[in-house]
Amino acid sequence: MPTLLGIPFDANSSFLRGPSRAPAKIREALRSDASNSWSESGVDIGASGAYTDTGDLQLLDSKQKVAEDFAAIEGAIQNLLASGAQPISLGGDHSITYPILKAFSRHFPALTMVHFDAHPDLYDQFEGDRFSHACPFARIMEERLAKRLVQIGIRTLTQHQREQGAKFGVEIVQMSQLPAFDRLKLQGPVYISFDVDVLDPAFAPGVSHREPGGMSVREAIAYLHAIEGEIVGADIVEYNSDQDLAGVTATVTAKILKEILGKMIVTNR
Ligand code: MN
Ligand code: MN
Repeated sequence: MPTLLGIPFDANSSFLRGPSRAPAKIREALRSDASNSWSESGVDIGASGAYTDTGDLQLLDSKQKVAEDFAAIEGAIQNLLASGAQPISLGGDHSITYPILKAFSRHFPALTMVHFDAHPDLYDQFEGDRFSHACPFARIMEERLAKRLVQIGIRTLTQHQREQGAKFGVEIVQMSQLPAFDRLKLQGPVYISFDVDVLDPAFAPGVSHREPGGMSVREAIAYLHAIEGEIVGADIVEYNSDQDLAGVTATVTAKILKEILGKMIVTNR
């Protein structure tokens, strides 16, 4: 069953803090009476047994204690996978995807990742930090925690990250190359990592790194629904309520969560 896990951690953010407060705000928006609980897949995620929620991890969220928190994240995901759950992590900054994938790779040695982001997050190190939220996919690929990595919505590719992508065989689909729905015809198991800043800041201003020229909410949903292959887990990261305007990004993030939940339930039936 899809299972929510809150990961209130933003100590590896390079610019602004704030995503550690996201899990509670995303849940609140998901439950809001402003909308009903049906996803566009035709699934009522409010139905009993549609998904479950294990609450938030208790973390130190300190730059000096990253190893402890990463071990706790990996352990929590490991336990969920061992129980047969399909974890959906609510971040948190994007650095959490690395410990999450350490656990996933043990259960799914041939995992395909679909990574929605304005940024490739492939830096070998960022400002001296190898665990920065700008680096998780370099760690994941050098440790072969995923078989394939398909990135979509990218619009900040540096020469270094282009070289990193080539070295690791990353399938980078830049924003300028869309539409590219065929690139998401994949074989399962599939893991979705959704950085909210893949969306244009006009739709989702509540992120630490606003990058214009991004996806509309409609486009992001269309790409989520275009994914083929069994979806075994997901994360939604980088929502920063300090940067939000009137809670609009919380509503958008909850909508993305609702569509991922519906998609998982339908494709895994
Ligand atoms: Mn990211
Ligand atoms: Mn990003």
